Amino acid sequence: MSVAALPKTALAAVLTEYNEPLGVEELPIVAPEPGALLVKVSAATVCGSDVHIWEGQLEGVLEVRRPIVLGHEIVGEVAAIGAGAELDSIGREIRIGDRVVWEHEACGHCPTCTIEREPGLCPNRRIGQLQPCHQPPYFTGGFAQYSYVWPKSGRLIVPGEVRTPWASAASCALRTVVNAFDRLGSIDFLDTVLIQGAGPLGLFATAVARTLGAGRVVVVGAPADRLQIARAWGADETLDIADHRDGADRIAAVRELTGDGAQVGLELSGAHGAFAEGLQMISRGGRYMVVGTIGGNPQAVPAHLITTRQIRVSGTMGAAIGSYHKALEFMRRTRHEFDFDLMLGRTYGLDEVTMALEQNRSQAEIKPIIDPTQLAS
Ligand SMILES: [Zn+2]
Ligand SMILES: [Zn+2]
Repeated sequence: MSVAALPKTALAAVLTEYNEPLGVEELPIVAPEPGALLVKVSAATVCGSDVHIWEGQLEGVLEVRRPIVLGHEIVGEVAAIGAGAELDSIGREIRIGDRVVWEHEACGHCPTCTIEREPGLCPNRRIGQLQPCHQPPYFTGGFAQYSYVWPKSGRLIVPGEVRTPWASAASCALRTVVNAFDRLGSIDFLDTVLIQGAGPLGLFATAVARTLGAGRVVVVGAPADRLQIARAWGADETLDIADHRDGADRIAAVRELTGDGAQVGLELSGAHGAFAEGLQMISRGGRYMVVGTIGGNPQAVPAHLITTRQIRVSGTMGAAIGSYHKALEFMRRTRHEFDFDLMLGRTYGLDEVTMALEQNRSQAEIKPIIDPTQLAS
């Protein structure tokens, strides 16, 4: 095992009760078991899912073993390397101080992992931020001074050209988008790509669709400042939901822009009814990828359109380490074309995580950053 000088304890923002302010706690540092890494967190960015967990919305969907350390978009510097963990997932040697991102841990021995080869869907997946933080390895999430990379989690060294908060955002939002496009198949200049949602997923999808060579990119979302970023990142047309409050009105507007509808659509908003609405914006023979809808009440859908317009509908959830690599490479290669800083919000100290979550929830900021080396008070 290779170890930098480790403190005996460090601080973490801990969620004990839903919807209550997170408290900063001192937790013990433990050396990594074989295969694992311990990292010193450089930055963690806030994802919408962090807010959903804080609000208790994951109860009944996934096991949330409170108290927990929230945060799953994380970049850290390697502080200790467990036995046998000297290489990253593409064979590069990991050294103390390297910046890394990592995935949730799949079990590697269930039919989903081995027969379907879909580790991102493993039913036995260990998601750090849902694990109890009052037992080893304690530093299970990202809003903390240290974080633990489980033995079977894929991990990658972050390319030097990719800024730390960008890499953090790549480790959830962008890798999800990259995975969604991979599953959609090829896109070319004949395709209009419809993007529902102008949050992190929708904005990254705009940049990716542009880079993949889409003929036209149409973004339906809000608020106006996010649509402005969408245009800066390559959207040809944006439709502000504030100006088109009625779903039928939005469908008519997209049809008017596209004729028969978009050849490719991505539902990235998660808004109730977005799936039914988006389906009516897809052309005959088109493809529609559902990513944003991960909970909520059942929705009425005009299912006949899937048959009569022969629309291929599919879904994606999360991603495995290959998509993390593609996401980081996307940022490295396009960093002069897209100003990824436009998505970032303010930087908050470890005792300000609650404020950062509120800023994300109110849409005041797209991606607040947590710097766990700072304490505001
Ligand atoms: Zn996320
Ligand atoms: Zn598995």
